[in-house]
Amino acid sequence: MKTDRIISTLVELCEIPSPSRCERYVADYILSRISELGLDAVEDNAGNDLNGDTGNIIVRVDGNGSPSLLLTAHMDTVMPVGGLPDRINVNITDGVVHTDRKSILGADDKAGIALALELLHHRVETSDDVCSLEIVFTVQEEIGARGAAYLDKDSISSEQGFVLDGDTPVGTVIVSAPHKLRYDLVISGAAAHAALEPEKGINAIKAMSEVVRELPCGKIDSNTVTNYGIVKGGNATNVIPDRVELIGELRGHDLEKVYHVRKQIDETSHRVLECSGASAEIIWTELYPGYSVSLDELCIQYFASACNKFDMQMDYVTTDGGGDANPLNGSGIICVPFGLGMKAIHTNQENIKLADLYDAFNLLLECVSIKS
Ligand SMILES: [Zn+2]
Repeated sequence: MKTDRIISTLVELCEIPSPSRCERYVADYILSRISELGLDAVEDNAGNDLNGDTGNIIVRVDGNGSPSLLLTAHMDTVMPVGGLPDRINVNITDGVVHTDRKSILGADDKAGIALALELLHHRVETSDDVCSLEIVFTVQEEIGARGAAYLDKDSISSEQGFVLDGDTPVGTVIVSAPHKLRYDLVISGAAAHAALEPEKGINAIKAMSEVVRELPCGKIDSNTVTNYGIVKGGNATNVIPDRVELIGELRGHDLEKVYHVRKQIDETSHRVLECSGASAEIIWTELYPGYSVSLDELCIQYFASACNKFDMQMDYVTTDGGGDANPLNGSGIICVPFGLGMKAIHTNQENIKLADLYDAFNLLLECVSIKS
């Protein structure tokens, strides 16, 4: 690892804003770095098909024997309320990379990209024995792991891998994450003039408020959580509203429990409205599947032996969040998010310690090194 290079890679990447669907400039940066190394990359069609300006970028590097491993990092960042500046001001103070606090840093997941690019440099510049690698830089992770879900899994030969995207400490991997569903609940009533013919109206907002009072919300049990977060409806104070929409989500590690709460949500909306004249329609979308990776799997074994080598405290984490590892595991590629130590992600306080970045690189290199 060349520390100067990995620092400048991270800073240059973080300076380029890349909210979901607008990953082009970061992708071009990655493509030029890959071509400087004399490697080839392909870009899939996710940009067109997912209404963005960029597809997933895939790089393959042949190694020596050993099964090939998949490594991924996402190119997009969140789009904070108030947007992003044209250029993000990145500073380093006492070995910590941060911004001027006027925007996110985007170490989530530029740190993962910086690691992957440094690993490619290492592969090209040294004769170290490294396994075959398939590195995928994905798009649209922050809006539902859409790029990873879109990826043509048949084009990936690796059976296991690491998602270089973790706000957990270096030395951790996320071995379990929940299933996630979204629901769109629409309540229909009847419009009428609110002052002249109020008796002809059925107020959809009022009906919705009665449903919401009984709708499951919050932590259901230690494995299942649900929330509604968006409500839309109504046009004018003098019109009885005939349509209100509520958007919510449901997450859980145990699919049976998830489906039980889903049924409760369905039944509540229909039961409460039974004699009200209003009606409810719910559309459910399965956003991504959950996963639970066994500690016997090869990627975990590699990770554990790398932590041992560096005498690093190791931990297996369960999250209630989700990301690219969800659709990848769902399609049969066993992989775990790899802790990079980034902190306060999705906020203007986001930061990452250079020491954590170096440790993460060393661990990663050990994970992909050929075992004798
Ligand atoms: Zn991320």
